Amino acid sequence: MNTRIAPTADRSYFAAFLDLRGKRGIVVGGGPVAALKAETLLRSGAQVTVVAPELCPRLAELTLVGALRHEAKRFQPGDLVGAEITIAATDDPSVNESVSAAARSLRIPVNVADNAALSSFIMPSVIDRPPLQIAISTAGASPVLARKLRTLIESLLPFAYGRLAALAARFRGASKQRYPEPDARRRFWEDVMDGPVAEMMLAGREPQAVEALERLLETDAASDVAAGMVYLVGGGPGDPGLLTLRALQVMQRADILLYDHLVAKGILDLARRDAERLYVGKEADNHALPQQDINALMVRLAREGKRVVRLKGGDPYVFGRGGEEIETLSQAGVPFEVVPGITAACGAAAYAGIPLTHRDHSHACVFVTGHLKDGTLDLNWDVLARPRQTVVIYMGVRGLAQLCEQLVAHGLGRETPAALVEKATLDTQRVVEGTLATLPALAAGENVRPPALVIVGDVVRLRGRLGWFSRNQVPNAAGRPSAVNSVQ
Ligand code: SAH
Repeated sequence: MNTRIAPTADRSYFAAFLDLRGKRGIVVGGGPVAALKAETLLRSGAQVTVVAPELCPRLAELTLVGALRHEAKRFQPGDLVGAEITIAATDDPSVNESVSAAARSLRIPVNVADNAALSSFIMPSVIDRPPLQIAISTAGASPVLARKLRTLIESLLPFAYGRLAALAARFRGASKQRYPEPDARRRFWEDVMDGPVAEMMLAGREPQAVEALERLLETDAASDVAAGMVYLVGGGPGDPGLLTLRALQVMQRADILLYDHLVAKGILDLARRDAERLYVGKEADNHALPQQDINALMVRLAREGKRVVRLKGGDPYVFGRGGEEIETLSQAGVPFEVVPGITAACGAAAYAGIPLTHRDHSHACVFVTGHLKDGTLDLNWDVLARPRQTVVIYMGVRGLAQLCEQLVAHGLGRETPAALVEKATLDTQRVVEGTLATLPALAAGENVRPPALVIVGDVVRLRGRLGWFSRNQVPNAAGRPSAVNSVQ
């Protein structure tokens, strides 16, 4: 039998994590690169000495506070005696070479910055979530690629994984006592990591996670507690780039997504590929599923042990009936997490160039719903028709004419600037700008459709200077660029 194991690439490293607590480490060099390396060593608990005639400000500061020792001199091979690890980061190749040669003759592991040939070990790009550490190496092929991968993993890995690892460390002894046999212990930890304990930790419910873990250790009983949970997630106004990291993370772990018509396709595409997708609708009065049925469905799916993502446009607690849905879950005892999203007003404001408040123009901002009830608008007009205030109206397209009329009737000038932002933040975004007097006719002329927001107030005038988003050159029915920008 051939037992030779060939290196897997032309240069294959042995990956290891060194315990350097209390060990002597020498850094040769006094510049910013040496400072970064020295800090990495310090983080792992090493006692660091820096050998260099002069120090950069960061190293000087670390020396001053007593974090490391400084030997103000040029390097000599004898400096390495007694060290367990060495790093050279000077800008003089001959010094780096002599550090490497001295370390090798003393059999001390050595790393030379940016020089794999002179190094006996290389330093990976590290994601640090103590006690969890993830190290990435490209064997020196591309540090930039390693950093890119690190950023990618950082963004996808919920921060709480570090806390989950700390929890496991805390219960290691107890698990050994309870399950002395390694296979049984492994199964126990698999239950923890795949089940409700991990789920609760990742959702920031640490006390409940600890309780469930204790119960699992005592009785085995928690293993049949379903891991089901509902995440009420705000998907933002449409541009997938505006999704929060947390939203992306939970969408990538979803078993099933229940989504509304406002959720853009580009956002649904970011969910885990195998996740089931169920449209539960809600387009004004045209509900695919009545609200009680949506609530009951979420409870049922969670009780079956599913990770349910209830995905809504914008923010779930801004005109999203999120409060009602969570109340049902809370009454049913189903665990939940709420992930906020960028509400349409903020998305529209940014992408249309209309700041919602501004020191010179508007000191307050009110969000209201313009949804018609029995054909009329029942709003507190006196509160809305105030100077130096921005009013943002959700669901206001159908009632636009009434809305503008009432605001004027209650004291706002007919010339008050007003805009409609249709499909805000999407490539198809359109903005129709006018005044309270002219906007209804302009909107009808442009055939503006929901979803669209009405923004009323002096801040609308700033669009000319602050607008920047221009993926919106969509030809209209007449084949010319549509009324994207100002229709005065
Ligand atoms: N929870 C959502 C609002 C739901 S109410 C949020 O926080 O944004 C639905 C209304 O939101 C629509 O009628 C429209 O007025 C507004 N809306 C949602 N997405 C929008 C978008 N991309 N562009 C313009 N308005 C939008």
